[in-house]
Amino acid sequence: MKDNYFLIKSKCIIILALSFFLISIGLQTKDLFINDSNYKIEYEYVNIKDMAQASVANKEKKTNVIRDLFIGNTYNGKITEVSLPTTKSVEAVELPTTANSLASSTVPRRIWYLPTEVGQVTQYPHYGHAAYDITSPRTYSENIFPVANGVISGIYTDPAGAKVVTILHNIDGVKYTSQYAHLSQYASGLYVGKPVTINDSIGLMGSTGNSTGPHLHIAVVDCALFDKNDVNCSDLNKWFRYANMRVGQNYYGLGSHINVPSSWYSR
Ligand SMILES: [Zn+2]
Repeated sequence: MKDNYFLIKSKCIIILALSFFLISIGLQTKDLFINDSNYKIEYEYVNIKDMAQASVANKEKKTNVIRDLFIGNTYNGKITEVSLPTTKSVEAVELPTTANSLASSTVPRRIWYLPTEVGQVTQYPHYGHAAYDITSPRTYSENIFPVANGVISGIYTDPAGAKVVTILHNIDGVKYTSQYAHLSQYASGLYVGKPVTINDSIGLMGSTGNSTGPHLHIAVVDCALFDKNDVNCSDLNKWFRYANMRVGQNYYGLGSHINVPSSWYSR
């Protein structure tokens, strides 16, 4: 009995120590500029590391967006400090489950859509490339649309310079992330936490980053990228590993949910 007590106690100490360690490496500070004033942001997740959404919000003078996003403390009507919500609040960023589960429980309907109006697949998913590459004769004027309703979970530039948007979907309680890369530009007013439907353009096709011509690189994986509670996808490295593992298990992302034709003229 006494041995058990000490075993539990030491386990608790180890877990506590590990938690503090993880919190200390997870919390970082980043400068944010609103109306030319400098604010410090404490964040734990890589999805707001890129301040693209903040600059868009700033440009549109949507300071309330930033306040809503980060649960800011407001003094004298100004945001003096913004910090990332706790884990509980981050869940508010997820797509409300009711909308999808209600719809799918009553009438079966098509949830997944193609990401472009006009498209041709130039590369299918395979190990090392867990995504579809899609071109369009409209090239830089082809709008990119979400493949399902969801919430913007990431707006960032990858190490090669590709403009990327990620969207979190919650369909019948299962979390998915769709990732759209090489965009030439983001749609205006895009910010992390913004709910989007299949009809909202998130940007234009482009060739930013590691790309030889205008195309969309789209990956759909059944995990929540940037969600620190998702052990498979809490960061981009894990996402790549997990996405490739799923392809190795014959999970073809978008193609697992809808039939992706080799070319199409309408979504
Ligand atoms: Zn690709």
